[in-house]
Amino acid sequence: MSRSENIHVSLRFRPLSYKEVEENESMIWSVSPTTVSLKSEWAQYLLDYKRLNRAPRAYNYNHCFSSKDQNHKVYETVAKRVVLASLDGYNGTLFVYGQTGSGKTYTMMGSESFSEETFRKKSNITPIIGRTGRSVSPMIRTHSFTPSIESKKDKGLLIFALEDLFTHIKNATDRNYCLSCSYLEIYNEQVYDLLEFNNDVLSVNEDPHKGFYVRGASEHVVGSLEEILKFIEKGEANRKYAATAMNHHSSRSHTIFKLNVTSVQIENNESNSITTESMLNFVDLAGSERVSSLNPDISFEAKHKQNKSKENLETLLNEGKHINTSLFYLCQVINKLSEKTSNSSDSHIPYRNSNLTKILRSSLGGNSLTCIICTAVPTLTQFEMSLSTLRFGGIAK
Ligand code: ADP
Ligand code: MG
Repeated sequence: MSRSENIHVSLRFRPLSYKEVEENESMIWSVSPTTVSLKSEWAQYLLDYKRLNRAPRAYNYNHCFSSKDQNHKVYETVAKRVVLASLDGYNGTLFVYGQTGSGKTYTMMGSESFSEETFRKKSNITPIIGRTGRSVSPMIRTHSFTPSIESKKDKGLLIFALEDLFTHIKNATDRNYCLSCSYLEIYNEQVYDLLEFNNDVLSVNEDPHKGFYVRGASEHVVGSLEEILKFIEKGEANRKYAATAMNHHSSRSHTIFKLNVTSVQIENNESNSITTESMLNFVDLAGSERVSSLNPDISFEAKHKQNKSKENLETLLNEGKHINTSLFYLCQVINKLSEKTSNSSDSHIPYRNSNLTKILRSSLGGNSLTCIICTAVPTLTQFEMSLSTLRFGGIAK
């Protein structure tokens, strides 16, 4: 079996926001169940205006979602199999990849961000809705008020996954399960624990038996859905708090919500009982707008220098460089994995280049299942960004 069967890449365009509709933007992409291409009138327009220099191609995916598809359909179609495989001992990773504002967090966490509620309660401020529709504190507010997209409630993939897991665990008659979770953030290549927030930078170490691990990362045993939701809520609030304290936007960090699933077969003879362990990672990646041609040396900010003050620019260049390199190395790992066959070894896969790939190492190669959901904005204004996401998806596949 080819390894690429273990890597599933899908694409999702979000619907137009009210603002985009007001500005007469339209959907310029046409989507079929496995292909995305430019609508012919828009392809011609982009060629005429030299935003495209040759006839556009179609991009193939394992699955493409229409912008009407809701998170539940995304979960059932592409994520469920990875989630349920963890109950049988297979490691898995779900990624959301795309530019800021394209729907990564919406896909993973749903329409209501846990953090907003908590943050509001804690700080007693009324959140201001930013251009992306997420509430941001006045300190990090950069855009004017614009009500965004639909206010429909939609749960995220992480919640569907947890509901599904707990239902299966409750109904399992042959095994006993134990779940524990941790929640990490990687900002500028530094790893933080979102569940024990104290600003300590954690190191990623290597152990000859357990491979790469994050030293000192807290792990919490969870017995129910309610309990685990509390941890997610806490992590989200800490993430938001950190973003404000460190003066960066949360779209500039990667987060990894990690579930450890341990199961013991229920046997009459206890000495024969078989234990399996697996990991399931939910990764909300930093905004990919800083990736330029998948080349780690060219950052998004470098191209936009002229608009930034020096101090700001240095921070942004640094952040941009880290996001750019870590997404580049992730892409490289996934690319190598998709070329592999089950006979070849993992030895030449370049996991060591970034903390993200080190942390995910045991859940990316081997028999692990990987699901990458690329999210994109369907408008003309964001055409170049969407193209970059489509290319990433093409490489990953
Ligand atoms: P990202 O995490 O990629 O920066 P968000 O998930 O915050 O982007 O989404 C940006 C805005 O678009 C939010 O207001 C979100 O509610 C909305 N949105 C994203 N995807 C969808 C979708 N599929 N359906 C409806 N609204 C969406
Ligand atoms: Mg986000």
